[in-house]
Amino acid sequence: MPKCNVITLAPMMKLIKYARTIALASVLTMIGAAQAQPVKVVATFTILADLTRQVGGEMVDVSTLVGPDGDAHHFNPAPPDARRLAAADMVVVNGLGFEGWIDRLIASSGFRGTKVLATTGIKPRETGRSRDPHAWNSVPNARIYARNISAALVAARPAQSAFLEERLATFDRRMVELDALVRTEMNVVPAAQRKVITSHDSLGYFGAEYGVQFLPVSGLSTAAEPGAAALTRLIRQIKQQDVRALFVENITDRRLIEQIARDTGATVGGRLYTDALSAAGGSADTYENMIRHNTRLIAAALRE
Ligand SMILES: [Zn+2]
Repeated sequence: MPKCNVITLAPMMKLIKYARTIALASVLTMIGAAQAQPVKVVATFTILADLTRQVGGEMVDVSTLVGPDGDAHHFNPAPPDARRLAAADMVVVNGLGFEGWIDRLIASSGFRGTKVLATTGIKPRETGRSRDPHAWNSVPNARIYARNISAALVAARPAQSAFLEERLATFDRRMVELDALVRTEMNVVPAAQRKVITSHDSLGYFGAEYGVQFLPVSGLSTAAEPGAAALTRLIRQIKQQDVRALFVENITDRRLIEQIARDTGATVGGRLYTDALSAAGGSADTYENMIRHNTRLIAAALRE
C-alpha cells in the first residue's frame, strides 16, 4: 500500500503546481485588464460615437453630447455636458465648422485630454463660400474617420494595439462592402434621373461619391431658411426637371418639404438620416444601418 501512495503522490504534486500556475496566470490577466481600462470618450454627435464604438469595442466607454435625432449644427451645452467632458480622456469632433460650439465648451470645461479631429486627411467639399462639414455621408470618408479614431485609441492604449487594429480591419472590410452596395444600388438608376430634394445640404458628399444630384431647400446649416424667391425657383426646377424624390430629414422640420410636395405634386419618399442616428433599435441606429436605410429609400424613390 505505501508503495502505491508514493506512485500517486508525484502526479498529485504536479497537479498542485499546475493549479498554482493557472491561478497566477489569472491574477496577471486581472492586473492586465485593470491596466487596460476603457478610454473615456466623449463624441460630439451620434455618428462619431458609433464609429468610435465600432473600432474601440470594450476598450472605449463612449458618451455623446448631441443625442439621437439631434441637430449638432445648433447645440446649447448644459453644465452636465461640461462635467462629462472634464472627466473624459478624449473628445472626438467632426470639425469643418460643423460643431461651432465645441471649442468654447472644451475651453470652459477644463478638459485636459486629447482632441481627435475625425476628418483629418479628408478633402473638404467646397460649396461657394463655405465648406461642407457632412463628410461622413460618403463611405470612403467614413473609413478615414475610423482610421483617425483608431489611431488615437492606439496612442492612448498602446498595449491594446493588436486588439484595436483587428477591430479596425474588421470594420474597414464591412465599409468596403457597404460602399460597393451603395454604388450597385445607385447605378441601377440612369444618371440623369438621380435628382433628390432634401431639406438642408447634408448629402453633398454622398452625391459626389455616388453620382446623385441633391437639391437642398436650404443651405449647409439647418439655420438658413430659403427666401420666397429661392423657393419659387426650386419649385420651378422640380417641375421642369421632373424631380420625383423628395425627402424629409430626421433632424429638420418636415413642414417645408411637405409644402413643396403639395406645390409640385411630388410625394415625400420618407425620412433620411443625415446628421444623426436614430435611437437604438431604430432603422438607423448605427452608421452602417443609416447608410443602408438612406440608400434603400433613395434608390426606391428614384426607380419609380
Ligand atoms: Zn447638417
